[in-house]
Amino acid sequence: MEAAAHFIPEIQLDHVTMEYESDAARVTALQDVSLTIAKGEFVSLLGPSGCGKTTLLRIMADLAEPTGGDLKVAGGSAREARLAQKYGIVFQSPVLYDWRRVKSNITLPLELKGVPRAERNKRAMELLELVGLAKFANHYPWQLSGGMQQRVAIARALAMEPEILLMDEPFSALDEFNRERLNEELLSIWSKVQNTVVFVTHSIPEAIFLSDRVFVLSPHPGRLSAVVDIPLPRPRTKEMRNSEEFFRLIARIRDSFEGGV
Ligand code: ADP
Ligand code: MG
Repeated sequence: MEAAAHFIPEIQLDHVTMEYESDAARVTALQDVSLTIAKGEFVSLLGPSGCGKTTLLRIMADLAEPTGGDLKVAGGSAREARLAQKYGIVFQSPVLYDWRRVKSNITLPLELKGVPRAERNKRAMELLELVGLAKFANHYPWQLSGGMQQRVAIARALAMEPEILLMDEPFSALDEFNRERLNEELLSIWSKVQNTVVFVTHSIPEAIFLSDRVFVLSPHPGRLSAVVDIPLPRPRTKEMRNSEEFFRLIARIRDSFEGGV
């Protein structure tokens, strides 16, 4: 964040703990996580598999309730934020409806909200333009590549103009080339939408390239082990990936993993 004066809290976690209990064992997925994310900030939750990233995202989204601690979203509870439709969520696999065309995948949430047909069609086309898929409006999801499908999922998540966009490893199934391209596209979309983004990833370069700040989590139990500021200027460019600063940040984050990875 550039100036502390602009820091309006959007998501606040206060000593959040999550324990899963099954007949055989009790797993502490998250232990004592406290953090604050600012309105309009782009942050990543970074850590190896099993460190509680998805659990943390689900708690923020009110899809799971922590077993300890508190959280506040947009000044109220996560439940209130969910009911007020403040969230857009993008999952690891796109979860599109294969029998609906691309455009009507995007109009679906608007349809459910009762937005008139002409307006929802217009909004869907604007969103498809935004994610660079206007030409594919009448295709079916299965006719698109994995990366294109994920862009449709992003467009759909943006349809309700969510104040908060939560993304759980949205590009992890893609190859390195497509992933880097989509990182750039996501930032260009975000620069137009300017909402709060919480992005889950296990890729250190991806977290650095995208974020204002990176929250580093360590596993067993999942704990917040570091918060790293990313001072790279915006807009971020491809060339920055090869900068000394970028490599310094990678080293810094590697060092912050408790006990190494
Ligand atoms: P990540 O997304 O970082 O891979 P998760 O949040 O999925 O981590 O999981 C964190 C820990 O909690 C893991 O040890 C996982 O096995 C456990 N866990 C996650 N969800 C459940 C669940 N529904 N029931 C029991 N254990 C779970
Ligand atoms: Mg996960």
